[in-house]
Amino acid sequence: MNIILIGPPGAGKGTQAKRMIDRLGVPQISTGDMFRAAVKEGTPMGLKAKEYMDKGALVPDEVVIGVVDERLKKDDCKKGYVLDGFPRSLDQAKALDEMLAKSGSKLDHVVVIDVPDDFLVSRLTGRLTCKNSACGNMHHIETYKPKVAGKCDKCGSDLYTRDDDKEETIRQRLTNYHKQTSPLIDYYGAKGIVRKVDGTGTMQQVEAAITQAIGA
Ligand code: AMP
Repeated sequence: MNIILIGPPGAGKGTQAKRMIDRLGVPQISTGDMFRAAVKEGTPMGLKAKEYMDKGALVPDEVVIGVVDERLKKDDCKKGYVLDGFPRSLDQAKALDEMLAKSGSKLDHVVVIDVPDDFLVSRLTGRLTCKNSACGNMHHIETYKPKVAGKCDKCGSDLYTRDDDKEETIRQRLTNYHKQTSPLIDYYGAKGIVRKVDGTGTMQQVEAAITQAIGA
C-alpha cells in the first residue's frame, strides 16, 4: 500500500505514520526526519536544508525530489510506504507522479489530517521531541508530560525542543502549508484518493479514524 499523509505542522503526521507502519509493515518515509539526520551529520545537503528549515521555509523542490527519488528506489519500498511530509507542493506531487509511473506503481490513499490553526500553535510550542530518531516519540509540556522530566517515556532518551518549534517559525510553517501544500488536497481529490480525518482527538481516536478511512 502506498500512502501519503498530508496535514499542517503539528497535525500528528509523524506520530500517526509510526503507528501505521507498525500495522502495515511498510517503511515510513519522512523527509523532515531525513533532513534532520543530514543536519546532524553535517552533510552538504544537511547544511543547505538547515538554512530553510530554521526559517520555517520549504527546502527547494530539486533537493527534496532527489532525496525522495533515491529513497523510493530502495528494496524496502517494494511492498509500499507511508510518505510523511512529502509531497508538500504541486511540483513535488507531479514529480512523485513521474516516479510512480516509472516504477509502474500508484498511490492508494492520501490521508489528510485536519486540525485548525489555533490548536497547532499551542501543540507545537509545547512539543518535546525524543532525540532518538528511531523512537521519534513526542511529549508535550502540559498535555503529555514525561514521567521523568526531560526524558522520553518510551526509550529514556533526552527530549528537546526542535529549532523550528518556535512561535514565529510555526506561523511561517502554517502559512507555507496553506499556500503551498493545501492545494494538493484538490489535486489528489480529483483522483478520488483523498481520505479526510479529524486530527483534533487523541492519538488513539485519530489512529482509529485513519484505520477506518483506509480499511487497514
Ligand atoms: P517536518 O518534520 O515534516 O515538519 O519538516 C521539517 C522541515 O523540513 C520543514 O519545515 C521544511 O523546512 C523541511 N521539509 C520537510 N519535508 C519537506 C518537503 N517535502 N519539501 C520541502 N521542505 C521540506
